[in-house]
Amino acid sequence: MKIIVPVKRVIDAYVTVRVKADQTGVETANVKMSMNPFCEIAVEEAIRLKEAGKADEVIAVTAGPAQCQETLRAAMAMGADRAILIQTDDELQPLAVAKLLKAVVDKENPEIVMLGKQAIDGDHNQTGQMLSALLGWGVAAFASKIECGDDNVTVTREIDGGLETLKLKLPAVITTDLRLNEPRYASLPNIMKAKKKQLDTMTPDELGVDIAPRFKTLKVTEPPERQAGIMVDSVSDLVEKLRNEAKVI
Ligand code: AMP
Repeated sequence: MKIIVPVKRVIDAYVTVRVKADQTGVETANVKMSMNPFCEIAVEEAIRLKEAGKADEVIAVTAGPAQCQETLRAAMAMGADRAILIQTDDELQPLAVAKLLKAVVDKENPEIVMLGKQAIDGDHNQTGQMLSALLGWGVAAFASKIECGDDNVTVTREIDGGLETLKLKLPAVITTDLRLNEPRYASLPNIMKAKKKQLDTMTPDELGVDIAPRFKTLKVTEPPERQAGIMVDSVSDLVEKLRNEAKVI
């Protein structure tokens, strides 16, 4: 079984994000970039399926500028076998990414495409669902447990107030949630080995995919600043303020 893991390069989760002065987006110049945390979980899960003998090959795929090679090398250092970069400097919206991934799936014929549930930059939570629709495959989003059978996969999903278990026919699309696993750190020898693994580059044009944007971001703004808290002298004081000032009880 072949697993494709689409991974996205995003602003590192521990960096404080700053909005550009002209409100057209967030500042990315000289900012540390890393693999999207949900994509790391997807890579980890695919590698675990390989280690358990359920998968033969794990291929990491990303669409974006040349610097995304770093993200692909990171996925290969974790254990992915090879990687594909769909190189473009153009803005990529979820529908464009889903179409690009479909073109790669058509070439590679994987049984599973394992994506992150969401990229922490755009917070779209759309790509996996759109890809499954384009492919005509089933999708299990927000997976917290995955068990592979011969021609099917059983996925436990985190839903409001509980868990839902689905059985999907392969091939299928899965998107990973936070509690699925804890991604490993790549060891130094594996980082060295990853430099020699196969990384193929192609372009959206070569894949015959129209990546033109379908929506326009009008404005990006910082969240409102939090008001400073106050100290109260007693519980009755607190109750009085909650009742008469905040009006929440
Ligand atoms: P989103 O729909 O943008 O929140 O992203 C959900 C998931 O789609 C991510 O966790 C990735 O697995 C995948 N994805 C999004 N953008 C890209 C990209 N440019 N290249 C590869 N995979 C992507």
